[in-house]
Amino acid sequence: MDFGLSFEQQALVDSLEEFCKRELYPHESLVEELRYVPAEIKQEIRRKSRDAGFEGMNLPEEWGGAGLDKQTKMEAERVLGKPSSPLSQCMNRGVTGILFKCKGEQIEEYLLPAIRGERKDAFALTEPGAGSDARGIVTKAERNGNGWVINGVKQFISAADIADFIILIAVSGVDDTPKGPRKRFTAFLLDKSLPGLRVEPMKSIVTRGYNPTMVYLDNVRVPDSKILGEEGQGFNTANEWLYDGRVALSAHCVGRAERIFDMTKEWAGSRKAFGKTIGEFQGVGFKVANMAVDIKLGDLMVKEAAWKMDNGLMDRTAASMVNYYCSEMVFRVADNAVQIFGGMGLMEDFPIQRFWRDARIERIWEGTSEIHQDLIAKDILRPYRQ
Ligand SMILES: Cc1cc2nc3c(=O)[nH]c(=O)nc-3n(C[C@H](O)[C@H](O)[C@H](O)COP(=O)(O)OP(=O)(O)OC[C@H]3O[C@@H](n4cnc5c(N)ncnc54)[C@H](O)[C@@H]3O)c2cc1C
Repeated sequence: MDFGLSFEQQALVDSLEEFCKRELYPHESLVEELRYVPAEIKQEIRRKSRDAGFEGMNLPEEWGGAGLDKQTKMEAERVLGKPSSPLSQCMNRGVTGILFKCKGEQIEEYLLPAIRGERKDAFALTEPGAGSDARGIVTKAERNGNGWVINGVKQFISAADIADFIILIAVSGVDDTPKGPRKRFTAFLLDKSLPGLRVEPMKSIVTRGYNPTMVYLDNVRVPDSKILGEEGQGFNTANEWLYDGRVALSAHCVGRAERIFDMTKEWAGSRKAFGKTIGEFQGVGFKVANMAVDIKLGDLMVKEAAWKMDNGLMDRTAASMVNYYCSEMVFRVADNAVQIFGGMGLMEDFPIQRFWRDARIERIWEGTSEIHQDLIAKDILRPYRQ
């Protein structure tokens, strides 16, 4: 394993970081205040991202992208974890992986417009009665002639307010198996304009501008042609991109932690109390040291995970380990930062409180910490099961 960055990788990382500082950071406070990205800022970021060659960088080559290997992609995603996510999303660097399952007319209708940044998707799995227990969802798709009628409620769906269509997972039937009845899950492509589909905002204290929503489905009718992938294969279809999503989230956590740390060490090295800089007190200095070690470990785990993906060695345990460690790590780093900034860490004029709030979600979405711990423990202990 060689974790050194090549000349090209370093150039990409440096130019991305420069772009974030120049084009994204200056808008963060405004987006936080408004809870949305104004259209003119969105368009400006899009245009500048395209001009700088970042548009579509996460796409495979066959879809016009850079075809980056995972190590390069995760280095780039680490940098893109630094700015607030609603702004980095405006760069249009790729599409939700499951959309590559589009076939026939779906390619023209959903995949290509999503690649071009003309149509945006949201992904709807979670429900009021089923989050971690994803197989507990009850949103129902019932056969009706040549199509389906969908009823149910989805909760916490990110960015469905600004999306043009929703990738929705529903229960499309129940199979009798030797282990008892098992639900069939199917992914559907639902245009937001469909009669019976309603999106309502939820007010979250995290990632303002990339807002969670409720999605209500009341007798929403769709033809067979709106099935994404195969009927009954909804989870398998979504799971194909599971590892990529978990490692990308971990890379974002490392990047965000690095940004928090840069601000914190500067503060610790310049803020004075009792005639010294606060970093000279062991109580603060040790926190700085622990933050540095924590971030380094997270970064190494992401690098190893990316290397594993490039070499076909990734598995569920490794994906959960990196996700679990990095999401807990960024919150520890953010919490230490608040402590080192003191009262100023909680003032809205400073971004530290926002980093702290935003870091909290990483331990919940893409699998809660407890679910990752559970998966890791199960995988380790499976051989000993009686
Ligand atoms: C801001 C935000 C954006 C989101 N965006 C999306 C989105 O775009 N699309 C989407 O589909 N979903 C989205 N989600 C939902 C997210 O994936 C869920 O919140 C997450 O899966 C946890 O589900 P839950 O909130 O229902 O918690 P629950 O599943 O009810 O869990 C509550 C607590 O119980 C614990 N717990 C549950 N089961 C176990 C177990 N077996 N062992 C130990 N502990 C357990 C959990 O770890 C947690 O601490 C989003 C959530 C938020 C907050």
